[in-house]
Amino acid sequence: MCKRIVILGAGESGVGAALLAQKRGCEVFVSDKAFIKESFKDELQGHGIAFEQGQHSLDKILCADQVVKSPGIPDRVPVIIALKEKGIPVISEIEFAAQYTDAKFVAISGSNGKTTTTLLIYHILTGAGLDVGLAGNIGQSLARQIALDAPKEWYVLELSSFQLDGMYDFKADIAVLLNITPDHLDRYDYEMQNYIDSKFRIVQNQTKDDYFIYCLDDENILRELEVRDIKAQQLPFSNKVEVSDGAFFQDNKIVFNLKEDAMSVFIEQLAIQGQHNRYNTMAAGIVARLFQIRKPSIRECLLSFKGVEHRLEKVLKVRGMSFINDSKATNVNSSWYALESMGTKVIWIAGGVDKGNDYAEIKELAKEKVKALVCLGTDNKKLLENFKGIVPTIVEVSSMAEAVKSAYYLGDKGDAILLSPACASFDLFENYEERGRMFKECVRNL
Ligand code: ADP
Repeated sequence: MCKRIVILGAGESGVGAALLAQKRGCEVFVSDKAFIKESFKDELQGHGIAFEQGQHSLDKILCADQVVKSPGIPDRVPVIIALKEKGIPVISEIEFAAQYTDAKFVAISGSNGKTTTTLLIYHILTGAGLDVGLAGNIGQSLARQIALDAPKEWYVLELSSFQLDGMYDFKADIAVLLNITPDHLDRYDYEMQNYIDSKFRIVQNQTKDDYFIYCLDDENILRELEVRDIKAQQLPFSNKVEVSDGAFFQDNKIVFNLKEDAMSVFIEQLAIQGQHNRYNTMAAGIVARLFQIRKPSIRECLLSFKGVEHRLEKVLKVRGMSFINDSKATNVNSSWYALESMGTKVIWIAGGVDKGNDYAEIKELAKEKVKALVCLGTDNKKLLENFKGIVPTIVEVSSMAEAVKSAYYLGDKGDAILLSPACASFDLFENYEERGRMFKECVRNL
């Protein structure tokens, strides 16, 4: 296909793309503005792949036939602007990898719930004995798997908007769009429509033989459906209304209905709880039914799925207080669902790097549920402004250990101590995983 491939960003997706490009006979050059992780450097060296770190040498980059860009690199950086000016195609690793496989794809996107739903779908499909791959924003990159592993017939892919931005010819055989609520607006010129357009790339190239599974309760999705020409067969899910083909909530059950053949599951039986997980379960169940998996097998997997670390993860009960790690909640909407799913009063640990947060939507819920707010960030101004007078007690702390201790002293028997930051983690932590791990460690040290 291509002769010279340049890869910008040497993380898991970049290194995977480099391995695949080299295997398919391309000339490959990898460039990372930052320092490359030792293990990735070793891998590139071991395969004799040329790379640089700490800089982008334009003379080596602007002669590419095709550039594969890490999802973390914004379009406004000089190297991308220079590539665009020269008319060199810049694509994402998924777009690149998909050129080299005949496999089909279940692609999952949305502002929240992607990882949970992707893993749940994978759990059900593999639980039924299907040999499917798992890739995207999760685990090993698709490119790496296509380069090194035995081919699969299907891959379940978690796709972020940043990945979708670099996708043009990719087609999802089954596309799942969970929700669209404000997130990452700093990457979309603070224009919600740009972000919505990015999410809707998940249906591009779909035909009438494909499926589009989406949330019927999401206003942004509904508005788009009125103006877009969706070619795929639509399978909506809803917590509010009954649908003929898709999934809905009724009498404490989720009903999955496909071609007038229904199955249902009581929500109390589901391993993952909360209204948001009801949506994730609906989406995953529809996919499972499209694969014609036996109903008992689907049911069993929905009941046995353990959930994912850092997503409303129960840590410990101390002095009758439940400590819950929801470190992955990095936007306001995800924290809304976390608070909503708490059956008791909450000591809420929030804060970090604000991504243009609008707290208006969560204030009423906070008033009802939150007993005390522990602000954990280097700049808590916005939280303080928004929740003063809304929650009875607000304290500021500067470390996780302090946050956990304060929450512990502010709480009473029966309360939930919830870390659900609604913000990114980079001010005090490496990433949300480190934030979650430190929370768990501090709780265990109490
Ligand atoms: P993503 O991969 O899209 O970031 P995750 O599955 O990792 O989503 O969940 C991140 C956080 O979002 C969870 O901690 C939970 O609080 C919240 N969440 C999960 N599913 C949903 C949903 N369907 N709608 C809203 N919030 C959700």
